[in-house]
Amino acid sequence: MKETIFQMERYAEANNIPIIELDSIKFIMKYIKLNNVKSVLEIGTAIGYSAILMANATESVEITTIEKDEKRYREAVKNVNACGLDKRIEVVYNDALEVNLAGHSYDLIFIDAAKGGYIKYFEKFCNYLNPGGVIITDNLKFHGLVKNKSSIKSKNLKGIVDKIEKYIEFLDNNKDYVTKYYDIGDGLSVSFKKNNEK
Ligand code: SAH
Ligand code: MG
Repeated sequence: MKETIFQMERYAEANNIPIIELDSIKFIMKYIKLNNVKSVLEIGTAIGYSAILMANATESVEITTIEKDEKRYREAVKNVNACGLDKRIEVVYNDALEVNLAGHSYDLIFIDAAKGGYIKYFEKFCNYLNPGGVIITDNLKFHGLVKNKSSIKSKNLKGIVDKIEKYIEFLDNNKDYVTKYYDIGDGLSVSFKKNNEK
């Protein structure tokens, strides 16, 4: 397991795959443990790094993770199997916006796919959140660029940063959720569903 995790870190580095930062995954693992999270839905598997570490938070947490890139999906399945976690991690090969999860629900939803899709993922997947559950989103600082927009030269990058800003605005204006932001790793948010029943 340790060896596989180390290899994944090297593979990600060599192939420019944006895996989660150590402090961020530690925060999520702690959250899983302290809140007795039983089920996680992850949007954006890449090679399975964060899914495998989340599965290591406790002995019983089960993860469903969605990846649309075939090569990364295959790599993730290989890594999950190498860690002996195939009973607790299901890797789904599809575009998250196409997946049908009818009948399923989760204690924690982790959004970590294409930054431009964050609002859409939130709007779709919040319907699959268990009572008391949370939605955690990664990369809200986007390597510090969100607070430093004037320094960005590339139009593409600027577009992504605009979308992250819109997502933060969307969270702040969302009447059904309370969101807390954490200056950990590349910036994390934790959104709790408000209990609107009187
Ligand atoms: N959670 C991973 C990193 C994910 S990187 C980790 O920390 O280890 C983001 C991944 O999301 C990429 O592999 C990309 O292919 C995938 N992705 C982007 N848009 C997607 C979508 N609409 N549906 C599924 N996967 C998507
Ligand atoms: Mg990320």
